[in-house]
Amino acid sequence: MKNNIIETDILIIGGGTLGLFIYSQLKKKFRNIKVIDRGGLKPKIAKKNNLINKGVYHKGTFKKRAFGIGGNSSLWGGQLAEFTNAEIKKYELDLGFKKNETKKIYRRLYKLLNIRKSDLNNFVKDHNLKIPNKYGIKYFHTSWLKEPNFSKFYKPCLDKNPNDFIINAKAEKLFIKNRRVTGIQCLSNKKKYLLKAKKYIFASGTVETIKFFQNNKNKIKLNSIGSYFHDHLGIHVGNIQPINERKFSNYFYNGIYKNSKYQPKLLFKFSNSKYSLSASGEFKFYSKYEKEIKKIKKGYIDLLNEMKLSHLLKLIIQSIKLNNKFFELLWLFLLKKKIKPFYDKGIYFYVQSEQLAEKESYVKLNKLSKKFIIDWKINGVELDFIKLFALKTKAFLEKEDIAKLNLNNFSNINQIKFKKIVRDTNHPSGGMIISKNRKTGVVDKNYCVWGTKNLYVTGSCLLKKSSYANITFTSLAMALKLTDYLKKNV
Ligand SMILES: Cc1cc2nc3c(=O)[nH]c(=O)nc-3n(C[C@H](O)[C@H](O)[C@H](O)COP(=O)(O)OP(=O)(O)OC[C@H]3O[C@@H](n4cnc5c(N)ncnc54)[C@H](O)[C@@H]3O)c2cc1C
Repeated sequence: MKNNIIETDILIIGGGTLGLFIYSQLKKKFRNIKVIDRGGLKPKIAKKNNLINKGVYHKGTFKKRAFGIGGNSSLWGGQLAEFTNAEIKKYELDLGFKKNETKKIYRRLYKLLNIRKSDLNNFVKDHNLKIPNKYGIKYFHTSWLKEPNFSKFYKPCLDKNPNDFIINAKAEKLFIKNRRVTGIQCLSNKKKYLLKAKKYIFASGTVETIKFFQNNKNKIKLNSIGSYFHDHLGIHVGNIQPINERKFSNYFYNGIYKNSKYQPKLLFKFSNSKYSLSASGEFKFYSKYEKEIKKIKKGYIDLLNEMKLSHLLKLIIQSIKLNNKFFELLWLFLLKKKIKPFYDKGIYFYVQSEQLAEKESYVKLNKLSKKFIIDWKINGVELDFIKLFALKTKAFLEKEDIAKLNLNNFSNINQIKFKKIVRDTNHPSGGMIISKNRKTGVVDKNYCVWGTKNLYVTGSCLLKKSSYANITFTSLAMALKLTDYLKKNV
Protein backbone atom coordinates (compact mmCIF):
# COMPACT_ATOMS: atom_id res chain seq x y z
CA MET A 1 0.00 0.00 0.00
CA LYS A 2 1.25 3.49 -0.80
CA ASN A 3 1.86 5.57 2.32
CA ASN A 4 0.62 9.07 2.97
CA ILE A 5 3.63 10.98 4.24
CA ILE A 6 3.77 13.66 6.94
CA GLU A 7 7.10 15.40 7.60
CA THR A 8 8.18 17.30 10.69
CA ASP A 9 11.29 18.10 12.77
CA ILE A 10 10.21 16.38 15.98
CA LEU A 11 7.68 13.61 16.37
CA ILE A 12 6.31 12.82 19.83
CA ILE A 13 4.53 9.50 20.05
CA GLY A 14 1.93 9.80 22.82
CA GLY A 15 0.15 12.99 23.88
CA GLY A 16 -0.29 11.99 27.52
CA THR A 17 1.34 13.43 30.63
CA LEU A 18 4.94 13.40 29.43
CA GLY A 19 4.13 13.92 25.75
CA LEU A 20 2.34 17.20 26.47
CA PHE A 21 5.05 18.35 28.86
CA ILE A 22 7.77 17.66 26.29
CA TYR A 23 5.72 19.35 23.57
CA SER A 24 5.30 22.48 25.74
CA GLN A 25 9.05 22.68 26.25
CA LEU A 26 10.16 22.00 22.70
CA LYS A 27 7.51 24.23 21.11
CA LYS A 28 9.40 27.17 22.67
CA LYS A 29 12.26 26.41 20.28
CA PHE A 30 10.93 24.41 17.30
CA ARG A 31 8.11 25.30 14.93
CA ASN A 32 7.65 21.90 13.36
CA ILE A 33 6.53 19.41 15.98
CA LYS A 34 3.85 16.77 15.69
CA VAL A 35 2.28 14.78 18.49
CA ILE A 36 0.41 11.62 17.61
CA ASP A 37 -1.90 9.84 20.00
CA ARG A 38 -3.86 6.66 19.53
CA GLY A 39 -6.80 8.10 21.49
CA GLY A 40 -9.03 11.12 20.93
CA LEU A 41 -9.13 14.60 22.38
CA LYS A 42 -10.82 13.28 25.52
CA PRO A 43 -8.86 10.37 27.03
CA LYS A 44 -10.81 7.17 27.64
CA ILE A 45 -10.07 3.97 29.51
CA ALA A 46 -10.13 1.30 26.81
CA LYS A 47 -10.16 -2.44 27.37
CA LYS A 48 -7.22 -4.12 25.67
CA ASN A 49 -7.74 -7.70 24.58
CA ASN A 50 -4.17 -8.34 23.49
CA LEU A 51 -2.79 -8.50 27.04
CA ILE A 52 -2.64 -11.49 29.36
CA ASN A 53 -1.68 -11.44 33.04
CA LYS A 54 0.67 -14.19 34.13
CA GLY A 55 2.45 -13.14 37.33
CA VAL A 56 1.19 -11.07 40.24
CA TYR A 57 -1.99 -9.35 39.05
CA HIS A 58 -1.09 -5.91 37.69
CA LYS A 59 -4.49 -4.28 38.05
CA GLY A 60 -3.42 -0.86 36.75
CA THR A 61 -2.56 -2.26 33.33
CA PHE A 62 -5.98 -3.81 32.93
CA LYS A 63 -8.20 -1.23 34.63
CA LYS A 64 -6.55 2.17 34.84
CA ARG A 65 -5.01 3.42 31.62
CA ALA A 66 -6.43 6.36 29.73
CA PHE A 67 -5.74 6.74 26.01
CA GLY A 68 -6.00 10.16 24.39
CA ILE A 69 -4.68 13.71 24.76
CA GLY A 70 -3.77 14.14 28.43
CA GLY A 71 -3.37 10.38 28.94
CA ASN A 72 -3.22 9.23 32.52
CA SER A 73 -3.05 12.79 33.82
CA SER A 74 -6.84 12.68 33.31
CA LEU A 75 -7.01 9.97 36.00
CA TRP A 76 -4.41 10.90 38.58
CA GLY A 77 -4.58 13.36 41.45
CA GLY A 78 -1.26 14.98 40.50
CA GLN A 79 0.62 14.09 43.67
CA LEU A 80 4.34 14.75 43.33
CA ALA A 81 7.32 13.51 45.27
CA GLU A 82 11.07 13.96 44.87
CA PHE A 83 13.57 11.15 45.30
CA THR A 84 15.22 11.39 48.74
CA ASN A 85 18.68 12.97 49.04
CA ALA A 86 20.23 9.54 49.62
CA GLU A 87 18.54 8.13 46.49
CA ILE A 88 19.63 11.12 44.41
CA LYS A 89 23.21 10.63 45.58
CA LYS A 90 23.06 6.94 44.73
CA TYR A 91 21.14 7.06 41.44
CA GLU A 92 21.43 10.48 39.78
CA LEU A 93 24.28 9.50 37.46
CA ASP A 94 22.45 6.28 36.52
CA LEU A 95 19.34 8.32 35.70
CA GLY A 96 21.27 10.46 33.24
CA PHE A 97 21.68 13.53 35.48
CA LYS A 98 25.03 15.13 36.18
CA LYS A 99 26.38 15.24 39.74
CA ASN A 100 24.23 17.58 41.89
CA GLU A 101 21.96 18.34 38.92
CA THR A 102 18.75 16.57 40.00
CA LYS A 103 17.70 19.11 42.65
CA LYS A 104 18.25 21.96 40.20
CA ILE A 105 16.02 20.27 37.64
CA TYR A 106 13.38 19.63 40.30
CA ARG A 107 13.43 23.36 41.14
CA ARG A 108 12.91 24.28 37.48
CA LEU A 109 10.02 21.83 37.30
CA TYR A 110 8.21 23.39 40.27
CA LYS A 111 8.33 26.69 38.39
CA LEU A 112 7.25 25.25 35.05
CA LEU A 113 4.33 23.39 36.61
CA ASN A 114 3.38 26.34 38.78
CA ILE A 115 3.71 24.42 42.04
CA ARG A 116 4.71 25.75 45.40
CA LYS A 117 6.70 23.04 47.11
CA SER A 118 5.42 22.22 50.57
CA ASP A 119 7.56 24.09 53.15
CA LEU A 120 8.08 21.14 55.46
CA ASN A 121 10.67 22.66 57.82
CA ASN A 122 8.48 25.59 58.80
CA PHE A 123 5.34 23.44 58.84
CA VAL A 124 6.91 21.09 61.38
CA LYS A 125 7.99 24.05 63.54
CA ASP A 126 4.62 25.84 63.30
CA HIS A 127 2.71 22.66 64.19
CA ASN A 128 5.12 21.54 66.88
CA LEU A 129 5.64 18.10 65.32
CA LYS A 130 8.44 15.75 66.25
CA ILE A 131 9.33 12.18 65.39
CA PRO A 132 12.32 11.23 67.55
CA ASN A 133 15.13 9.45 65.63
CA LYS A 134 14.75 6.34 67.80
CA TYR A 135 11.65 5.29 65.81
CA GLY A 136 13.63 5.11 62.55
CA ILE A 137 10.89 6.72 60.44
CA LYS A 138 10.61 10.19 58.96
CA TYR A 139 7.72 12.57 58.42
CA PHE A 140 7.30 14.19 54.99
CA HIS A 141 4.81 15.87 52.67
CA THR A 142 4.02 15.32 49.03
CA SER A 143 3.05 18.33 46.90
CA TRP A 144 0.11 18.54 44.49
CA LEU A 145 -0.50 20.07 41.10
CA LYS A 146 -3.24 22.70 41.11
CA GLU A 147 -4.47 21.42 37.73
CA PRO A 148 -3.55 17.74 37.40
CA ASN A 149 -5.05 17.21 33.95
CA PHE A 150 -2.29 18.21 31.52
CA SER A 151 -4.68 18.71 28.59
CA LYS A 152 -6.29 21.48 30.69
CA PHE A 153 -3.00 22.79 32.08
CA TYR A 154 -1.56 23.14 28.57
CA LYS A 155 -4.87 24.12 26.91
CA PRO A 156 -3.70 27.58 25.74
CA CYS A 157 -0.72 25.98 24.00
CA LEU A 158 -2.88 23.21 22.46
CA ASP A 159 -5.57 25.66 21.32
CA LYS A 160 -2.95 27.82 19.63
CA ASN A 161 -1.50 24.94 17.61
CA PRO A 162 -4.31 22.43 16.87
CA ASN A 163 -2.59 21.20 13.71
CA ASP A 164 0.37 19.89 15.71
CA PHE A 165 -1.83 17.12 17.10
CA ILE A 166 -2.78 14.02 15.17
CA ILE A 167 -5.35 12.04 17.13
CA ASN A 168 -6.71 8.49 16.77
CA ALA A 169 -3.38 7.54 15.18
CA LYS A 170 -1.50 4.55 16.52
CA ALA A 171 2.27 4.20 15.95
CA GLU A 172 2.91 0.68 14.72
CA LYS A 173 6.03 0.20 12.67
CA LEU A 174 9.57 1.50 12.72
CA PHE A 175 11.81 2.08 9.71
CA ILE A 176 15.57 2.33 10.27
CA LYS A 177 18.51 2.84 7.96
CA ASN A 178 22.14 3.19 9.05
CA ARG A 179 21.11 3.54 12.71
CA ARG A 180 18.74 6.42 11.86
CA VAL A 181 15.00 6.07 12.17
CA THR A 182 13.67 7.16 8.78
CA GLY A 183 9.99 6.96 9.59
CA ILE A 184 7.23 5.59 11.80
CA GLN A 185 4.16 4.11 10.25
CA CYS A 186 0.92 4.79 12.04
CA LEU A 187 -2.60 3.62 11.54
CA SER A 188 -5.47 6.07 11.64
CA ASN A 189 -9.05 5.25 10.62
CA LYS A 190 -7.75 2.14 8.85
CA LYS A 191 -5.38 4.29 6.78
CA LYS A 192 -1.60 4.00 6.99
CA TYR A 193 0.57 7.11 7.29
CA LEU A 194 4.33 7.47 7.32
CA LEU A 195 5.61 10.09 9.72
CA LYS A 196 9.12 11.30 9.01
CA ALA A 197 11.10 13.41 11.49
CA LYS A 198 14.62 14.36 12.52
CA LYS A 199 14.05 13.13 16.07
CA TYR A 200 11.46 10.71 17.46
CA ILE A 201 10.42 10.68 21.13
CA PHE A 202 8.36 7.88 22.63
CA ALA A 203 6.08 9.07 25.44
CA SER A 204 3.48 6.32 25.15
CA GLY A 205 3.35 5.11 28.77
CA THR A 206 5.27 2.11 30.09
CA VAL A 207 3.24 -0.82 28.76
CA GLU A 208 2.46 0.62 25.31
CA THR A 209 6.06 1.75 24.78
CA ILE A 210 7.33 -1.75 25.60
CA LYS A 211 4.69 -3.24 23.28
CA PHE A 212 5.77 -1.03 20.37
CA PHE A 213 9.43 -1.95 20.82
CA GLN A 214 8.66 -5.65 21.24
CA ASN A 215 6.70 -5.52 17.99
CA ASN A 216 9.71 -3.92 16.29
CA LYS A 217 12.34 -6.12 17.89
CA ASN A 218 13.64 -7.28 14.55
CA LYS A 219 14.84 -3.71 13.95
CA ILE A 220 15.85 -2.84 17.51
CA LYS A 221 17.82 -5.90 18.41
CA LEU A 222 17.97 -5.51 22.18
CA ASN A 223 17.35 -8.37 24.58
CA SER A 224 16.35 -6.24 27.55
CA ILE A 225 13.17 -4.75 26.05
CA GLY A 226 10.40 -5.54 28.54
CA SER A 227 12.72 -6.62 31.39
CA TYR A 228 12.63 -5.18 34.92
CA PHE A 229 8.91 -4.34 34.64
CA HIS A 230 7.82 -3.23 38.12
CA ASP A 231 5.55 -1.04 40.20
CA HIS A 232 5.21 0.02 43.80
CA LEU A 233 3.73 -2.55 46.14
CA GLY A 234 0.59 -1.20 47.76
CA ILE A 235 -0.93 -2.86 50.82
CA HIS A 236 -3.19 -2.00 53.77
CA VAL A 237 -1.30 -3.18 56.83
CA GLY A 238 -3.62 -2.39 59.73
CA ASN A 239 -6.39 -0.28 61.10
CA ILE A 240 -5.98 2.85 63.17
CA GLN A 241 -7.83 4.07 66.21
CA PRO A 242 -6.83 7.62 67.17
CA ILE A 243 -5.95 7.97 70.88
CA ASN A 244 -5.68 11.71 70.70
CA GLU A 245 -7.76 13.15 67.83
CA ARG A 246 -6.15 16.57 68.06
CA LYS A 247 -2.62 15.18 67.83
CA PHE A 248 -3.57 12.74 65.06
CA SER A 249 -5.16 15.47 62.93
CA ASN A 250 -2.22 17.79 63.58
CA TYR A 251 0.15 15.22 62.10
CA PHE A 252 -1.90 13.40 59.51
CA TYR A 253 -4.78 15.37 58.02
CA ASN A 254 -4.21 16.83 54.56
CA GLY A 255 -4.33 20.58 54.28
CA ILE A 256 -3.07 23.79 52.78
CA TYR A 257 0.06 25.49 54.11
CA LYS A 258 1.40 28.73 52.68
CA ASN A 259 -0.85 28.31 49.63
CA SER A 260 0.27 24.79 48.78
CA LYS A 261 -1.69 21.60 49.27
CA TYR A 262 0.13 18.87 51.18
CA GLN A 263 -0.43 15.26 52.15
CA PRO A 264 1.44 14.05 55.24
CA LYS A 265 3.21 10.69 55.00
CA LEU A 266 5.85 8.60 56.73
CA LEU A 267 9.08 7.46 55.11
CA PHE A 268 11.07 4.35 55.98
CA LYS A 269 14.39 3.15 54.54
CA PHE A 270 16.30 0.01 55.31
CA SER A 271 19.47 -1.63 54.00
CA ASN A 272 21.16 -4.86 54.95
CA SER A 273 23.41 -7.34 53.14
CA LYS A 274 20.39 -8.75 51.21
CA TYR A 275 18.53 -5.64 50.13
CA SER A 276 18.10 -1.90 50.21
CA LEU A 277 14.52 -0.61 50.08
CA SER A 278 12.43 2.44 50.90
CA ALA A 279 8.69 2.96 51.32
CA SER A 280 6.11 5.56 52.20
CA GLY A 281 3.11 5.11 54.47
CA GLU A 282 -0.11 7.07 54.59
CA PHE A 283 -3.47 7.05 56.34
CA LYS A 284 -6.52 6.16 54.28
CA PHE A 285 -9.90 7.28 55.54
CA TYR A 286 -13.01 5.37 54.51
CA SER A 287 -16.53 6.78 54.69
CA LYS A 288 -19.99 6.29 53.25
CA TYR A 289 -19.77 9.97 52.19
CA GLU A 290 -16.67 9.40 50.00
CA LYS A 291 -18.39 9.96 46.66
CA GLU A 292 -20.13 13.16 47.75
CA ILE A 293 -16.97 14.56 49.31
CA LYS A 294 -14.99 13.81 46.15
CA LYS A 295 -17.59 15.71 44.12
CA ILE A 296 -17.42 18.68 46.50
CA LYS A 297 -13.63 18.77 46.24
CA LYS A 298 -13.82 18.58 42.45
CA GLY A 299 -16.51 21.28 42.36
CA TYR A 300 -14.34 23.50 44.51
CA ILE A 301 -11.31 23.02 42.21
CA ASP A 302 -13.47 23.65 39.11
CA LEU A 303 -14.72 26.85 40.66
CA LEU A 304 -11.23 28.02 41.56
CA ASN A 305 -10.05 27.29 38.02
CA GLU A 306 -13.07 28.83 36.28
CA MET A 307 -15.37 31.27 38.07
CA LYS A 308 -18.55 30.04 36.35
CA LEU A 309 -22.08 30.22 37.75
CA SER A 310 -22.69 26.57 36.73
CA HIS A 311 -19.71 25.42 38.89
CA LEU A 312 -21.01 27.44 41.84
CA LEU A 313 -24.54 25.97 41.48
CA LYS A 314 -23.16 22.41 41.32
CA LEU A 315 -21.07 23.06 44.43
CA ILE A 316 -24.11 24.40 46.34
CA ILE A 317 -26.25 21.36 45.33
CA GLN A 318 -23.52 18.94 46.39
CA SER A 319 -23.09 20.76 49.70
CA ILE A 320 -26.84 20.59 50.43
CA LYS A 321 -26.75 16.82 49.80
CA LEU A 322 -24.00 16.48 52.41
CA ASN A 323 -26.00 18.41 55.07
CA ASN A 324 -23.97 19.42 58.08
CA LYS A 325 -20.93 17.41 56.92
CA PHE A 326 -20.19 20.25 54.56
CA PHE A 327 -20.08 22.69 57.47
CA GLU A 328 -17.70 20.37 59.34
CA LEU A 329 -15.43 20.46 56.29
CA LEU A 330 -15.70 24.22 56.02
CA TRP A 331 -15.19 24.79 59.73
CA LEU A 332 -11.90 22.85 59.97
CA PHE A 333 -10.67 24.44 56.79
CA LEU A 334 -11.37 27.98 58.00
CA LEU A 335 -9.99 27.25 61.46
CA LYS A 336 -6.88 25.21 60.68
CA LYS A 337 -6.55 25.07 56.88
CA LYS A 338 -7.00 21.29 57.16
CA ILE A 339 -9.19 19.07 55.02
CA LYS A 340 -11.43 17.13 57.36
CA PRO A 341 -11.57 13.45 56.50
CA PHE A 342 -14.65 11.35 57.37
CA TYR A 343 -13.94 7.84 58.58
CA ASP A 344 -17.15 6.18 59.68
CA LYS A 345 -15.85 3.06 57.87
CA GLY A 346 -12.40 3.20 59.46
CA ILE A 347 -8.85 4.50 59.05
CA TYR A 348 -6.14 2.24 57.62
CA PHE A 349 -2.39 2.52 57.46
CA TYR A 350 -1.38 1.90 53.84
CA VAL A 351 2.17 1.24 52.66
CA GLN A 352 3.55 1.90 49.21
CA SER A 353 6.87 0.09 49.00
CA GLU A 354 9.63 0.03 46.46
CA GLN A 355 10.26 -3.44 45.06
CA LEU A 356 13.61 -5.08 44.40
CA ALA A 357 14.77 -4.98 40.78
CA GLU A 358 13.79 -8.25 39.06
CA LYS A 359 15.27 -8.91 35.64
CA GLU A 360 12.80 -11.72 34.95
CA SER A 361 9.78 -9.54 35.64
CA TYR A 362 8.65 -8.58 32.16
CA VAL A 363 6.18 -7.61 29.47
CA LYS A 364 6.77 -9.88 26.47
CA LEU A 365 5.19 -10.77 23.17
CA ASN A 366 4.06 -14.35 22.78
CA LYS A 367 4.76 -14.97 19.12
CA LEU A 368 2.30 -17.86 18.81
CA SER A 369 -0.76 -16.21 20.34
CA LYS A 370 0.38 -12.71 19.22
CA LYS A 371 -0.65 -11.52 22.69
CA PHE A 372 1.44 -9.65 25.24
CA ILE A 373 2.14 -11.29 28.56
CA ILE A 374 2.46 -9.20 31.69
CA ASP A 375 4.55 -11.34 34.02
CA TRP A 376 4.97 -9.07 37.02
CA LYS A 377 7.31 -10.71 39.54
CA ILE A 378 7.98 -9.76 43.12
CA ASN A 379 10.93 -11.08 45.09
CA GLY A 380 8.99 -11.37 48.36
CA VAL A 381 11.59 -10.08 50.84
CA GLU A 382 9.70 -6.80 50.59
CA LEU A 383 7.18 -8.35 53.00
CA ASP A 384 9.74 -8.46 55.85
CA PHE A 385 10.64 -4.86 55.08
CA ILE A 386 6.99 -3.72 55.14
CA LYS A 387 6.40 -5.59 58.41
CA LEU A 388 9.37 -3.76 59.95
CA PHE A 389 7.98 -0.42 58.75
CA ALA A 390 4.57 -1.26 60.21
CA LEU A 391 6.11 -2.15 63.58
CA LYS A 392 8.12 1.06 63.70
CA THR A 393 5.03 3.11 62.84
CA LYS A 394 3.05 1.29 65.53
CA ALA A 395 5.74 2.03 68.13
CA PHE A 396 5.78 5.71 67.21
CA LEU A 397 2.00 6.17 67.14
CA GLU A 398 1.36 4.29 70.37
CA LYS A 399 4.31 5.50 72.49
CA GLU A 400 3.60 9.10 71.53
CA ASP A 401 -0.11 8.63 72.41
CA ILE A 402 -1.29 9.51 68.91
CA ALA A 403 -3.14 6.38 67.75
CA LYS A 404 -3.38 2.61 68.07
CA LEU A 405 -2.30 0.57 65.05
CA ASN A 406 -3.74 -2.94 64.96
CA LEU A 407 -1.46 -5.24 62.94
CA ASN A 408 -2.97 -8.57 64.01
CA ASN A 409 -4.11 -9.70 60.57
CA PHE A 410 -1.07 -8.45 58.72
CA SER A 411 1.65 -9.78 61.07
CA ASN A 412 0.80 -13.39 60.25
CA ILE A 413 0.73 -13.31 56.46
CA ASN A 414 3.39 -15.22 54.55
CA GLN A 415 4.97 -14.49 51.16
CA ILE A 416 2.42 -16.60 49.23
CA LYS A 417 -0.52 -14.69 50.69
CA PHE A 418 1.38 -11.42 50.31
CA LYS A 419 1.81 -11.94 46.56
CA LYS A 420 -1.91 -12.68 46.27
CA ILE A 421 -3.15 -9.60 48.06
CA VAL A 422 -0.54 -6.97 47.23
CA ARG A 423 -1.52 -4.57 44.42
CA ASP A 424 0.30 -2.18 42.15
CA THR A 425 -0.16 1.53 42.77
CA ASN A 426 -0.73 2.58 39.13
CA HIS A 427 2.97 3.28 38.64
CA PRO A 428 3.94 0.75 35.94
CA SER A 429 7.67 1.24 35.39
CA GLY A 430 10.76 -0.40 33.89
CA GLY A 431 10.95 -2.41 30.70
CA MET A 432 13.00 0.18 28.76
CA ILE A 433 15.73 0.80 31.30
CA ILE A 434 18.75 3.09 31.09
CA SER A 435 22.04 1.21 31.01
CA LYS A 436 25.76 1.62 30.60
CA ASN A 437 25.83 -0.64 27.55
CA ARG A 438 23.43 -2.20 25.04
CA LYS A 439 23.63 -5.63 26.67
CA THR A 440 22.08 -4.61 29.98
CA GLY A 441 19.36 -2.15 28.99
CA VAL A 442 17.55 -0.33 26.20
CA VAL A 443 18.59 3.34 26.26
CA ASP A 444 21.77 5.27 27.04
CA LYS A 445 22.08 8.18 29.47
CA ASN A 446 20.61 10.60 26.93
CA TYR A 447 17.57 8.28 26.75
CA CYS A 448 18.51 7.42 23.16
CA VAL A 449 17.78 3.81 22.17
CA TRP A 450 21.02 1.83 21.86
CA GLY A 451 22.06 1.35 18.25
CA THR A 452 20.08 4.36 17.00
CA LYS A 453 20.94 8.04 16.59
CA ASN A 454 17.57 9.77 16.71
CA LEU A 455 15.14 7.63 18.71
CA TYR A 456 14.40 8.62 22.32
CA VAL A 457 12.23 7.24 25.11
CA THR A 458 10.76 8.97 28.16
CA GLY A 459 8.67 7.96 31.15
CA SER A 460 8.97 5.70 34.15
CA CYS A 461 9.71 2.78 31.79
CA LEU A 462 13.32 4.03 31.98
CA LEU A 463 13.62 3.24 35.70
CA LYS A 464 15.07 -0.01 37.00
CA LYS A 465 13.88 0.70 40.55
CA SER A 466 11.30 3.21 41.72
CA SER A 467 12.25 4.81 45.04
CA TYR A 468 9.78 5.25 47.92
CA ALA A 469 7.15 7.42 46.29
CA ASN A 470 5.24 8.52 43.20
CA ILE A 471 7.47 8.44 40.16
CA THR A 472 6.04 10.97 37.74
CA PHE A 473 7.85 14.00 39.15
CA THR A 474 11.19 12.31 38.51
CA SER A 475 9.98 11.10 35.08
CA LEU A 476 9.15 14.74 34.27
CA ALA A 477 12.61 15.80 35.49
CA MET A 478 14.18 13.29 33.11
CA ALA A 479 11.94 14.54 30.30
CA LEU A 480 13.06 18.12 31.01
CA LYS A 481 16.66 16.96 30.78
CA LEU A 482 15.86 15.35 27.42
CA THR A 483 14.29 18.55 26.07
CA ASP A 484 17.38 20.54 27.18
CA TYR A 485 19.52 18.08 25.25
CA LEU A 486 17.35 18.14 22.13
CA LYS A 487 17.22 21.94 22.09
CA LYS A 488 20.98 21.82 21.60
CA ASN A 489 21.14 18.77 19.37
CA VAL A 490 18.51 18.84 16.62
C1 LIG B 1 -5.39 6.51 39.02
C2 LIG B 1 -3.96 6.92 38.86
C3 LIG B 1 -3.40 7.74 39.83
C4 LIG B 1 -2.05 8.11 39.71
N1 LIG B 1 -1.54 8.96 40.65
C5 LIG B 1 -0.28 9.40 40.52
C6 LIG B 1 0.24 10.37 41.41
O1 LIG B 1 -0.49 10.91 42.26
N2 LIG B 1 1.54 10.73 41.29
C7 LIG B 1 2.36 10.20 40.33
O2 LIG B 1 3.55 10.54 40.31
N3 LIG B 1 1.87 9.31 39.43
C8 LIG B 1 0.58 8.90 39.49
N4 LIG B 1 0.07 8.04 38.57
C9 LIG B 1 0.94 7.62 37.46
C10 LIG B 1 0.98 8.69 36.39
O3 LIG B 1 -0.33 8.97 35.98
C11 LIG B 1 1.83 8.19 35.22
O4 LIG B 1 3.14 7.94 35.69
C12 LIG B 1 1.94 9.21 34.12
O5 LIG B 1 0.68 9.70 33.76
C13 LIG B 1 2.61 8.55 32.91
O6 LIG B 1 2.71 9.48 31.87
P1 LIG B 1 3.05 9.00 30.41
O7 LIG B 1 3.06 10.21 29.57
O8 LIG B 1 4.25 8.14 30.45
O9 LIG B 1 1.85 8.05 29.99
P2 LIG B 1 0.33 8.43 29.71
O10 LIG B 1 -0.09 9.62 30.46
O11 LIG B 1 -0.42 7.17 29.91
O12 LIG B 1 0.30 8.81 28.17
C14 LIG B 1 0.61 7.90 27.15
C15 LIG B 1 -0.14 8.32 25.90
O13 LIG B 1 0.38 7.59 24.79
C16 LIG B 1 -0.68 7.20 23.94
N5 LIG B 1 -0.23 6.01 23.20
C17 LIG B 1 0.04 4.79 23.70
N6 LIG B 1 0.49 3.97 22.73
C18 LIG B 1 0.49 4.69 21.58
C19 LIG B 1 0.84 4.39 20.24
N7 LIG B 1 1.29 3.19 19.89
N8 LIG B 1 0.69 5.37 19.31
C20 LIG B 1 0.24 6.59 19.64
N9 LIG B 1 -0.10 6.93 20.91
C21 LIG B 1 0.04 6.00 21.86
C22 LIG B 1 -1.85 6.94 24.88
O14 LIG B 1 -3.08 7.08 24.22
C23 LIG B 1 -1.63 7.99 25.96
O15 LIG B 1 -2.38 9.17 25.73
C24 LIG B 1 -1.27 7.65 38.64
C25 LIG B 1 -1.84 6.84 37.66
C26 LIG B 1 -3.19 6.49 37.76
C27 LIG B 1 -3.78 5.63 36.70
